[in-house]
Parts: sequence; C-alpha cells; structure tokens
Amino acid sequence: MKDENCIFCKIIDCEIPSEKVYEDQTTYAFKDINPQAKVHIIIVPRNHYENVAQLAKADPKQLAHMVQVAQQLADEEFHGAYRLVFNTGEDAGQTVFHVHGHILTGEKLDE
Ligand code: C5P
Repeated sequence: MKDENCIFCKIIDCEIPSEKVYEDQTTYAFKDINPQAKVHIIIVPRNHYENVAQLAKADPKQLAHMVQVAQQLADEEFHGAYRLVFNTGEDAGQTVFHVHGHILTGEKLDE
C-alpha cells in the first residue's frame, strides 16, 4: 500500500535519503531532519495510512508494534524515557499525511 506522491513512502523505498535508525518488515524509523529534542526519530509503517486513527482502525497490531519499537529505541537512547506524538490533522501541525510517530528522547524533556 503506497502513495506515489508521499514523501515518507519515498523515504521508505530509499528514493529520498534518510538517516535510518531501525527497520523491519513492516516498520521504518529515521532521524527527523529538523530535530525538536536531542534525539528525534520519526517512526512509520511501510504501508501508507493518512493518520493514526486510520491506522488504528485498519491495523491495530501495527500501531502496537510501533509503540514497542519506540520503547526499544528509547531504552537504547535514554533509559526508556520518551514522548511519542502523532500530530493528526493540519490544524494540529500534521504536514506529512503518512501516519508517523515523533519519538522525542535522549534528554530530559520540558513538561
Ligand atoms: O507531524 P508532522 O507532519 O509535522 O511531522 C513531519 C516531520 O517530518 C517533521 O518533523 C519534519 O521535520 C520531518 N521530515 C523529515 N524528513 C523529511 C521531511 C519531513 O524528517 N524529508
């Protein structure tokens, strides 16, 4: 399930370069090009869904897997502490309409 105009589909397919930190058969994670924390990772499913609600409805196991991978990455980066954010909708700051979690970690975060 791909969208040929989607920048994250292109990153997953390596048509656009990214700094990969994790991949498996269903999931890909890379460093955000504009980091908002010491460690800022974007985690995406390989399949294209517009937002987290669509993913949760269509494939809840995939969403649960992404949370587990986020935990694993934060265990490696910062003793398991992290913030996981899914901006949903343009007015909430979503700019890329391929569901993605922002994993913010690597330092103590502001409250
Ligand atoms: O939640 P939102 O849609 O705003 O997040 C998109 C994120 O994808 C941004 O943080 C942006 O820096 C990141 N991005 C990236 N590499 C790209 C394009 C966008 O890391 N080539």
